[in-house]
Amino acid sequence: MRPTRDVHLKMVRARSYQISVNWNISNEHVRDTEPLYGRLIAIKDNITTSSSHPDFPALPTTAASRILADFTSPYDASVVERLKRAGAIIAGKTNLDEFGMGSHSTHSHFNAVRSPFTRDGHALSAGGSSGGSAVAVATGQCWAALGTDTGGSVRLPAAYTGTVGFKPSYGLLSRWGVIAYANSLDTVGILARNITDARVVFAALAGFDGRDPTSLPPSTRARIAALVGSPRVRERRTRLRIGVPGEYNIAELTPSVRAAWSRTLSQLRQRGHSVVPVSLPTTTHALSAYYVLAPAEASSNLAKYDGVRYGSRSDGTDDGQTRGGVASALFTATRGAFGAEVRRRILLGAYTLSADAIDNYFVQAQRIRRLVQRDFDGVFALPNPLARAAAPASAVEDDRALESSAAQDGHLVGVDVLITPTAPTPPPTLAIVAKQTSTEGYMNDVLTVPASLAGLPACSVPAPPASGGGDRDREMEEGVGVQVIGQLGDDGLVLDVAAAVE
Ligand code: GLN
Repeated sequence: MRPTRDVHLKMVRARSYQISVNWNISNEHVRDTEPLYGRLIAIKDNITTSSSHPDFPALPTTAASRILADFTSPYDASVVERLKRAGAIIAGKTNLDEFGMGSHSTHSHFNAVRSPFTRDGHALSAGGSSGGSAVAVATGQCWAALGTDTGGSVRLPAAYTGTVGFKPSYGLLSRWGVIAYANSLDTVGILARNITDARVVFAALAGFDGRDPTSLPPSTRARIAALVGSPRVRERRTRLRIGVPGEYNIAELTPSVRAAWSRTLSQLRQRGHSVVPVSLPTTTHALSAYYVLAPAEASSNLAKYDGVRYGSRSDGTDDGQTRGGVASALFTATRGAFGAEVRRRILLGAYTLSADAIDNYFVQAQRIRRLVQRDFDGVFALPNPLARAAAPASAVEDDRALESSAAQDGHLVGVDVLITPTAPTPPPTLAIVAKQTSTEGYMNDVLTVPASLAGLPACSVPAPPASGGGDRDREMEEGVGVQVIGQLGDDGLVLDVAAAVE
């Protein structure tokens, strides 16, 4: 059945749907041997999608904001182009926190995302900001979905909905066509039902893109491949050293989360891997640094939505007069189209970047970011491929770089991956979320932001069931995720370990 144009528009505008369904389905021009042939993939609505057929309008790209409520993109984001080339069908666009700012997908101009999961009859948070993508995957509305992860927005919803959420290393997937929140942190991520599926999507998306200035160039990708694929690294990895950072064992962890974490570790120990405690001392400052840096970048990125260059324009005059210290009525009204959380972040960012405050806030936060990166580099056996010392020209030098970073007193030190919980608690009920202050909401990200600050690959998988697999469903309702973090570029190992946990 071929839907009419009207049906298409109606579905697109019915924003109470978790997902605006795309009736314009066509992958006729793609060979059926392509890896994603016929796979329905939903796209978070801060990633641009154009029309793929002249008879049909483009799907919307709203970033869940009133300011972009009527926007359609003339082009597809690079990641969407790649999906289509691999045979995927764009299932539709998914709801989110406005511009990706939030942890529960409740800050949307198109109403909150509703999770299908409940506790004692009370609706639970879907997590955010990619909550719509997570729910679309969890409910089988699509095979997999794209999200974006700036400080945890793919991993947190994955944990809360019992799905897999993978944030690759910063720079591996193109950000071209992704509406910026905080460019130095924004990463396209993948939500899927299992690691096998996430891997297929990742393989289709990864690659250099000259249109994204932060896309890792082919030479760096080759260096990463040489480092990770070196015989010495491969040999070492038959038995993994898994690091457990003490700083992640915060008082706020609920007993169920702590139990799931230690259950995961003992299962991996039983399989012959060793589990070692490590210390990442700057972790305790990571959340504060993140909430200085991300809003600072956001305030700069969102300046362009002035109703002239981007965004809808409000009624009013622009007579150049100043009223109450504000430059123009039209500008104020236009910027008033942003939701409360976005406005809060713009103000916060504008303040921390202001002449009086920049040294105390923005500059300090950048320092902390450096220290967080250094902490991670200090515990991983694999050197950071972006660090100068880790730019070997040959396999022999690769081995030397690895040894010098990992050998001490004749022992190989350094871990291959870190394992932590994804979130301190199972999903809260929406009633609890409604009562939280924004700072309490920011607390949900405490375990996900450190990897974001360092650009590291990190994957959330549902925690293994308590006994033998029988109560898997109950566990999914619990919504406890385990996070695997690896060295930059070590995405393959992160997925391998996540698959072992699954
Ligand atoms: N919750 C975090 C924030 O609001 C992370 C969001 C994200 O990763 N897009 O900034």
